[in-house]
Amino acid sequence: MCGIVAYIGKNQACPIVIKGLQRLEYRGYDSAGIALMQEGDITVYKTKGKVSDLQSFIEGKPTDSTLGMGHTRWATHGVPNDVNAHPHYSGNKNIAIIHNGIIENYAVIKEELTKRGHVFHSDTDTEVLVHLIEEIQNNEKCSLEKALLEALNKVTGAYAIVVMERNDPNTLYGARKGSPLVLGIGTDEYFLASDATPIVEYTKNVVYIGEEEVVVIKRDGGFTLKTIQNVEKTPYIQELELKLEMLEKGGYEHFMLKEIHEQPRSIKDSMRGRLNAVDNTLKLGGLKEYEHKIINANRILIVACGTSWHAGLVAEYLFEDLARIPVEVEYASEFRYRNPVINENDVVIAISQSGETADSLAAIKLAKEKGATIIGICNVVGSSIPRETHAGSYTHAGPEIGVASTKAFTAQVVVLTMMAIYVAYKRGKITESKYRQLIIELDTIPDKVKHIIDSTNEQVKKIAEIYKNAHNFLYLGRGYNFPVALEGALKLKEISYIHAEGYPAAEMKHGPIALIDENMPVVVVATNHSAYEKIISNVQEVVARKGRVIAIVTKADDIIKSLAEHVIEIPDTEESFSPLLSVIPLQLLSYYIAVGLGKNVDQPRNLAKSVTVE
Ligand code: GLU
Repeated sequence: MCGIVAYIGKNQACPIVIKGLQRLEYRGYDSAGIALMQEGDITVYKTKGKVSDLQSFIEGKPTDSTLGMGHTRWATHGVPNDVNAHPHYSGNKNIAIIHNGIIENYAVIKEELTKRGHVFHSDTDTEVLVHLIEEIQNNEKCSLEKALLEALNKVTGAYAIVVMERNDPNTLYGARKGSPLVLGIGTDEYFLASDATPIVEYTKNVVYIGEEEVVVIKRDGGFTLKTIQNVEKTPYIQELELKLEMLEKGGYEHFMLKEIHEQPRSIKDSMRGRLNAVDNTLKLGGLKEYEHKIINANRILIVACGTSWHAGLVAEYLFEDLARIPVEVEYASEFRYRNPVINENDVVIAISQSGETADSLAAIKLAKEKGATIIGICNVVGSSIPRETHAGSYTHAGPEIGVASTKAFTAQVVVLTMMAIYVAYKRGKITESKYRQLIIELDTIPDKVKHIIDSTNEQVKKIAEIYKNAHNFLYLGRGYNFPVALEGALKLKEISYIHAEGYPAAEMKHGPIALIDENMPVVVVATNHSAYEKIISNVQEVVARKGRVIAIVTKADDIIKSLAEHVIEIPDTEESFSPLLSVIPLQLLSYYIAVGLGKNVDQPRNLAKSVTVE
């Protein structure tokens, strides 16, 4: 899940690579390293820790070079330490490699190479790959390119790699399968990176390297693209829409806070060109060709992981409630390994912020083989999942850098909401007037989100201060707000490392109620919708056991106000849109608790933003 960056051109490579790694740090940050071509040698500097540690490490050391590559790691094989950090050398130090992914058959190859005298210094799968390339090159006395192609045909698993060779200061090699790799084309300079964020300030022209493709870049001679079977490909050069400002904190202390505040805008962006509240229409261009499949689906299967899985759960309520289509929401990692029953009348929706989530990608490949129609809901344009699907809608939330997802979640829910309303209408399950009413109400959501952020921020900050030292939290919700309870608990766990559980409020009696005492903060999403009376009873049950209730209520609610220790008011809306509002104070609560505890909000321990390994 690491981030990789490489540069070849006329400028100094080191600052470009380091800056690029900082942009990619959301992908992994347990160790970092850089390789620089210097006077006929490859110099490697690497260290455990973050890119800032690498920066301190190289301070005062020679970095003069116009060809270099760097890596910020999220360890899969071998603990995060200096030795396991990338780049890795081949045995003779002629070749250096950086790698994102997992070489699944590394153990067998390592055993064979060890018998042939190779000595490994790290525990990584990556080092095995670079030794394999060296072995082939030595045996066959061939070019690095040929050895690389041959090696890539021998390995299984996933990789985005960049390789450089000591004897050739004018060439850089990149390849990918499963993990992303983008080529940036500047004027007499080239970039390779895991995504476009390290590239955008130098050039807008990019090529997304395809599955099992290799790119060979010559300092003065352009680049060639081919498959690992050595078949030349014509590159498709695209112009980036990404803007530099989108990648910066814009005055906020953390990306997460910036992204929470961006939601009124990002939700609008998700609706732009799709929802028209003037003539009361909805259109989802990316689904047009396959919309009959969704409208006539026997069943919708949603595959996702983490926060996206919670957005999927909201969609289950939406599609069943409004469109009357049965929905199953699956963890992609479970779905892919349990021989699921799928047929041509099923529609599978994959939800993923990065569009690179390895389990979701594998799940849709499996469903596609079985004839299902595959729809993608992703944020990163040009990522792998959208390329595997029949149709889909981008969420257009803009780059999300904070590891804990906020604006990507609300954008996913908005897109799924629009889909459900559209499909419900086309299936004749809601009347014309209901359809119009829903569109008009959905259009008000960005302003309501803004109102919640402005009106609850200070109050939530104070509540966070009171409860930041709690060891456990319980989050309760019902119906549409049950997934919000799960999401609130996940946010808290992710960035503050406090144990938190989300539960359907009524399920509390079947176990978690045993945990409630005066030390247990219980966050209850208690908006005035269908199960309101029931949730009042649930709040009473918590209060009776001295639990400390923090309730999210609809404005002007008096009943819960009289019961709960804290009430956070949000505006009223359609029940089916309530997750888009109720989740906002929960995002703020987790943020301020983590800040109060002095945690690294944007880069929580052990996590990475885009989970490109299983
Ligand atoms: N498998 C490699 C390692 O553990 C790369 C992991 C990554 O993608 O960060 O070092």
